[in-house]
Amino acid sequence: MVERGDFLHALENDIKPAFGTAAEALEHFLSRGIINWGNPVSSLLEDGQLYIQQARATESSGLVSVLLEGPPNSGKTALAAELAKLSDFPFVKVCSPEDMVGFTETSKCLQIRKYFDDAYRSSLSCILVDNIERLLDYGPIGPRYSNLTLQALLVLLKKQPPKGRKLLILCTSSRRQVLEDMEMLSAFTGVLHVPNLSQPEHVMAVLEESDAFSKKDLQKIQHDIRGARIFIGIKKLLALIDMVKQTDEDSRVFKFLTKMQEEGGLDLGTNVQ
Ligand code: ATP
Ligand code: MG
Repeated sequence: MVERGDFLHALENDIKPAFGTAAEALEHFLSRGIINWGNPVSSLLEDGQLYIQQARATESSGLVSVLLEGPPNSGKTALAAELAKLSDFPFVKVCSPEDMVGFTETSKCLQIRKYFDDAYRSSLSCILVDNIERLLDYGPIGPRYSNLTLQALLVLLKKQPPKGRKLLILCTSSRRQVLEDMEMLSAFTGVLHVPNLSQPEHVMAVLEESDAFSKKDLQKIQHDIRGARIFIGIKKLLALIDMVKQTDEDSRVFKFLTKMQEEGGLDLGTNVQ
């Protein structure tokens, strides 16, 4: 027999929203997947899982908010989307400044508020607030930002969902200091740092995942960057590999190493031969 509980269960788990499912919203940010290039990635995902469990736990407060902060291009958005996906919460909303281009401060606040109101209706919800400083119209020259949006976000970050409801808020930012100055940092349950790649092995792990280089080329690169200083975001590195792939195979290694240095991601120092 079909009972009320079944309807409620279906409403929560089976009925997909008209404008695309939660998974589809996240897919956009995960099209290139997550490459496990080293320890920082695995430990970030592990810590993320703990926060997800905390958000899910019946005895928890019902609200867990996590900030993923790190340099531009370090992979914050993709990792936040991956955590949202791993949470497997049926309600997922992405609140991104890209979708609010041209909004006035007020309409922006109303839109954010609507995302939260919708989330409070579902028993397990996840909201991804991407690129907070953009959302707040932060500009380093001045500096200026929207105080109205800041206050709205601060309130929502601290507001407990109704009894029995669980809310996981994942935020990303490349301006940790700015958020600290705005006294927003303390509003989060936890902060996860998303670092750039910093070791030759990290770069090798990504190159091995790509099909841009032959075995021999990989060995040559490994030899050339041994002991070098590395500092590059995963997004930048992947873009660089895409570009190098367009050149013919004979010149790829040279092109790659030159571009890495030009971008400031590789410092061969005394290693130059
Ligand atoms: P921005 O500073 O411009 O906001 P970002 O730090 O948010 O950039 P993303 O937009 O998440 O960076 O880009 C990271 C890209 O790298 C994505 O395309 C993602 O699929 C890919 N990627 C591969 N491996 C990883 C990883 N281990 N962590 C994060 N992203 C990864
Ligand atoms: Mg981003």
